Amino acid sequence: MTDELLTAEAVETVYRRLAETMPGRTPGAKGPKGQPDAFRSCVSCMLSAQSRDANTAAAARGLFALATTPQGILDLDDDAIAAAIKPCGLYNMKTRNLRKFCTALLEEHDGVVPNTRKGLMSLPGIGRKCADIVLSFTFGEDVIAVDTHVHRVCNRLGLARGKTEAKTAQSLEDRTPDWALHEGHFWLLQFGKQVCNARSPKCDRCPVSDLCLWYARDGKV
Ligand code: SF4
Repeated sequence: MTDELLTAEAVETVYRRLAETMPGRTPGAKGPKGQPDAFRSCVSCMLSAQSRDANTAAAARGLFALATTPQGILDLDDDAIAAAIKPCGLYNMKTRNLRKFCTALLEEHDGVVPNTRKGLMSLPGIGRKCADIVLSFTFGEDVIAVDTHVHRVCNRLGLARGKTEAKTAQSLEDRTPDWALHEGHFWLLQFGKQVCNARSPKCDRCPVSDLCLWYARDGKV
């Protein structure tokens, strides 16, 4: 991976073009993975590690059919939790993490999910990506959550650099103009799914190919 980055002027242009061509935030959309509150959003993010969206949704449905509060989940035995979340894989580890998360939430935050990145990341099992997703989707903050799609797009284009999603998130935050923070995640996510996808990016119909550092270097990916 090169360290080269787009200029501030080019970054502005990229966001402007994505804003013109990609869907933004959907008004009234529910939280991440369709969850209606911060607690269920956090749990759903934790379940999503190394899991496809459909499997995460099935696991979340199974778990929330049994309990929707930290105490409710702690009252379940491990076997019941593991069986409910089995579709998302790594269910024994995720069961242990869920228990730690619910315990910390009750003991340190009176059961209320904090609405700051620092507070969220102090909870077991909540990393930068989950924290930013909850901040953006549930609390409506101007934060660009970096998932696998946003991470890939940023590093190909030269919008931001980072070997991990968390490092890309920091780089992107430092380089994104304020006006693009509210919708940026949605533009980049849709762009990553529709155009700059993982296996066969559609560079020939990409609205920012004249700015893309990867395209300039190789003419293709
Ligand atoms: S030119 Fe290709 S690699 Fe670059 S951002 Fe567009 S689709 Fe992605």
